[in-house]
Amino acid sequence: MRWKALLAGITAAVTIVGAAAPLSLLATTSILGDVVRQVAGELVDLTVLLPPDTDPHTFQPTPQEIALLSRADLVFVCGAGLEEALAPFLSQARRVVDLSQGIELRTSPDGRVDPHVWLSPLNVAVWVEEIAAALAELDPAHAEEYHARAQAYRRELALLDSWIEEQVRKIPEGRRVLVVDHLAFGYFADRYGFRQLAILPGFSTLAEPSARELAQLEQEIRRLGVPAIFISHTTASPLVEQVARDTGVRVVRLYVGALSGPDGPAPTYLELMR
Ligand SMILES: [Zn+2]
Repeated sequence: MRWKALLAGITAAVTIVGAAAPLSLLATTSILGDVVRQVAGELVDLTVLLPPDTDPHTFQPTPQEIALLSRADLVFVCGAGLEEALAPFLSQARRVVDLSQGIELRTSPDGRVDPHVWLSPLNVAVWVEEIAAALAELDPAHAEEYHARAQAYRRELALLDSWIEEQVRKIPEGRRVLVVDHLAFGYFADRYGFRQLAILPGFSTLAEPSARELAQLEQEIRRLGVPAIFISHTTASPLVEQVARDTGVRVVRLYVGALSGPDGPAPTYLELMR
C-alpha cells in the first residue's frame, strides 16, 4: 500500500514539473477546506467537496462528486470514520492524505473512534504540519511558501487556543458541563476541562439512545440546572426537540462540523471556534 502511494506521488510530482500547472487539491469538509486554503494560499486549485452547512456524517456523494475525487492530485480527508459514506470511493483517488493519522484519537469503551478532532485547535495545528509536508513533497518549488504559511497559521491557532482558555476561566469549574446533541465535543472538553452529556450517545448524528438513556439524561439536565442544550446547526434530530420540551431548556445551535457560507456567522475555522 505504502509504496503504491509513494509511486502515485512521484508520478504526480513529475507531471507538475513538466506542465507547471497548479496542484489540484480536494478537501472533504468545509472546515478542512479552509485549513488547506490557509496553508496552500492561491498556489493551488482547491475543491471543497461538502458544501457549507452539510452534516459530514450523513453526506452522500453524487457520481459527479466521485469523479472530482478521482481527478485531484491530492485528496485530504479528516478520516477516523467522519466521511463514512465517502470511504468506499477513496480507492479511486490518486493519492489520499488521511489527516487523522497524526492525531492522538479519542476512543469510546466499545472501541469506536471520535472523528471531531478539529474542536481542539492543537489538533488543527497537527493537520497544518501534515498539509504543508504533503504539499511541499508534491510541489517542491513552493515548499518554502507552504511552510511559511503553515507557520503563520499555527500562530493564529495558538492565539485562538489562549483566547478559548481565557473565556473558559470565566465559567465556574462546577458549571463546565456541555449538553450536546451527539458526542462531538470530546477534544474540546478534554482540552478545556469540560464534561459533555449527549442526547444521541455516539460520535455520529446517526446514533440513537434508548428510552432509559433519554430518561437518565433528562434527570441529569434537571439536577444540574442546565440553561441550554448546544446542538450542531446541521442536526435535525426530533429527540433534541423532545428533550428540550421535556426539560424546558432552550436549544442553542452552534457551527460544529461545517462552516457557514461566506456571509454567515462562521465562514472560517477560526470564526467557527470563536
Ligand atoms: Zn459529528
